[in-house]
Amino acid sequence: MEGGRLEKQAGGRSKVMNRVYNFAPGPGVLPVPVLEQLARELPDYHGTGMSILEMSHRGAIFTQIIRETRDLLRELLNVPETHEILLLQGGGHLQFAMVPLNLLGAAAEASYIVNGIWSKKAAAEAGKFCRVNIIGTPSRSQIPHPDSINVPNDAAYLYYCMNETINGLEFNYIPSCPDCVPLVSDVSSDFLSRPIDFKRHALVFAGAQKNFGPAGLTVVIVRKDLLGLAGDTCPTMLNYEVHSQSGSMYNTPPVFCIWAANLVCKWLLNEGGVDVMNERAATRSKLVYGAIDKSDGFYVNTIDPSARSRMNVVFTLREEALTELFVKEAGDHGLVNLKGHRLVGGLRASLYNAMPVEGARVLSEFMADFAVRHG
Ligand SMILES: *Cc1c(COP(=O)(O)O)cnc(C)c1O
Repeated sequence: MEGGRLEKQAGGRSKVMNRVYNFAPGPGVLPVPVLEQLARELPDYHGTGMSILEMSHRGAIFTQIIRETRDLLRELLNVPETHEILLLQGGGHLQFAMVPLNLLGAAAEASYIVNGIWSKKAAAEAGKFCRVNIIGTPSRSQIPHPDSINVPNDAAYLYYCMNETINGLEFNYIPSCPDCVPLVSDVSSDFLSRPIDFKRHALVFAGAQKNFGPAGLTVVIVRKDLLGLAGDTCPTMLNYEVHSQSGSMYNTPPVFCIWAANLVCKWLLNEGGVDVMNERAATRSKLVYGAIDKSDGFYVNTIDPSARSRMNVVFTLREEALTELFVKEAGDHGLVNLKGHRLVGGLRASLYNAMPVEGARVLSEFMADFAVRHG
């Protein structure tokens, strides 16, 4: 079952759950079976007479959940033994600081590809700790040409954002850098929607709330030989090595988020894993971009087709004044949270893993119909 309007609850109790198609950019849509299981198992976890929220994180039950969550992530993404999986807090924003704090070592400079709002913010934060070599893009609608990425041998690392959530740009290639320079990527908004090559990526991180869990959990997958580079003044809680040595239990972990992420991982595996998510992402985004491209300019998306995000379809209306009406009518059809980011305006349909393909189809049909009525 993919979600959408649900007529019958598990257990046979008939109850109409009025689920909308939720195109929110984050926190984003979660799988209905996971939400149901969370609700069912919350007050009395597996006959213990208490919830996960109330028991020791060092007890047998939670220890098993956190271990299993790491194992599930390893399985889903084929993470090799060269890399450690850390389950942390602080969101993507804290990683903007933790990456330089942990990877700079003795280097004085890091290279950042800046092609959108999130990579720009990450580069600005890194500027507090080192010189930042910015690799820019010729326009806001493109990712840089692979040949334009020149990284010096002595850079601490090369950083890029795999999917720019606000700008609607997604890398369709892996940027290259010298073998001695670790490659770092912010994969917050396309995590678990495509395979990640860990031969090339030394570190990836993702806030869970975009694509695979509740806000409050951040996953960092880092090559083990990079642990231990943080300087003496690095705060304990910001040191990857500390979290690695304590199995992500240096302090109390976000127990609810990890439990929920555990169930999302199981749902993902059950649905067919990352390859199936990859196919669905292609199908969903083709439906929505199709509606834009077939609209004779009624809808506008300026992103170079090779760089179009499969996760966040950003578009505007030729007649800007119709934007509010579009959002309202879409809402009346159960298609919600389509308003663009406050910094860029317009419209945005976020199509994360738990968005049923049917949701993208209904949206594309609504878009076609709206264009006929108002074009
Ligand atoms: C949302 C987002 C962030 C910021 O995440 P927080 O968890 O809110 O700090 C960073 N990078 C990308 C690509 C994002 O989509």
